[in-house]
Amino acid sequence: MQDSFGRKIDYMRISVTDRCNLRCKYCMPEYGVKSLEHSDILRFEEISKIALACTNLGVNKFKITGGEPLVRKGVLPFIKSLHKTGQIQSITMTTNAVLVEQYREEILDCGLDSINISLDTLSAGKYEKITGKNELAKVLNAIEFCEKSDICTKVNCVVIKGFNDDEICNIAQLAKDKNIYVRFIEMMPLGMGQQSQWVSNQQILSVLENRFKTIQIDDKIYGNGPAKYYKIQGFKGRIGVISAVSGCFCDSCNRVRLTADGFLKLCLQYDVRTDLKTPIRNGATGQELEEIIKKAVYKKPQKHSFSKDIIKNKEGKNMSQIGG
Ligand code: SAM
Ligand code: SF4
Repeated sequence: MQDSFGRKIDYMRISVTDRCNLRCKYCMPEYGVKSLEHSDILRFEEISKIALACTNLGVNKFKITGGEPLVRKGVLPFIKSLHKTGQIQSITMTTNAVLVEQYREEILDCGLDSINISLDTLSAGKYEKITGKNELAKVLNAIEFCEKSDICTKVNCVVIKGFNDDEICNIAQLAKDKNIYVRFIEMMPLGMGQQSQWVSNQQILSVLENRFKTIQIDDKIYGNGPAKYYKIQGFKGRIGVISAVSGCFCDSCNRVRLTADGFLKLCLQYDVRTDLKTPIRNGATGQELEEIIKKAVYKKPQKHSFSKDIIKNKEGKNMSQIGG
């Protein structure tokens, strides 16, 4: 499936819930946001129908996200069942990992192709400050468990000026003895993220270069996204940077998003979405669904405008309601 700019769309991020067990300051207001009604959230069989229509249109990579995906009961059996849908190349999940311990067996059983674990600090105090909960130990254990279980593990760290920019090298060192990817992400000016100061990847790389003189670009492509990877002598894993703001990679954008309430969202920054839940609940056939999706994808905006203060149709939701 192609959009109106000729970009091939083969990757979908599926948000299975808007609820979360943490309250990361840049993602969700402290007291949360009004949750969706349960009846407004897509049932797993409805998500599967959309996924099947998408695979028929050439989407073959899916990322399961939230809110926090592991707070939704049954998500891991759902992932296992999704593998049987159409021609799927990979199913991955992004999680804060607090519940990984609780679902170890099911995680091993559901056939995840990789897991992204969000972690912004190695200080227990700072972790509690940014997420509202004292759960750092569980996240570190989860990283260890996933790596030891040979699940491809990517640790994602959003760098915030004055909060964790002094920890860049320490966080990178998680990839020293573990065969994992540690990726630094620029804070995007969306929702609560607009209240924090971002650090550019150029700055992050120069901190890393100063400390690790042997850092070198690694041209191999790992995964479905726009991360650039680096290797450091003596490190088992890799370091990645995702220039979500400073490097506009919209020309090669291959993704769409499905929100928990059943809208196909076409670009992170714009409130441009198409309702898929209503047609599904009105009995649309698979073919009808495919037509709706194809038409919607044609409305995908050309690129983000994070550098502009005022833009039309700006996304008003927080990242927890979109899934990242
Ligand atoms: N709860 C899961 C988690 O934390 O991985 C999945 C959803 S969360 C919205 C997905 C990712 O979005 C997390 O890695 C989070 O750090 C990131 N994120 C949230 N707000 C962001 C922002 N304004 N800019 C960049 N990344 C953001
Ligand atoms: Fe929850 Fe993930 Fe947002 Fe943190 S980043 S509040 S864990 S959805």
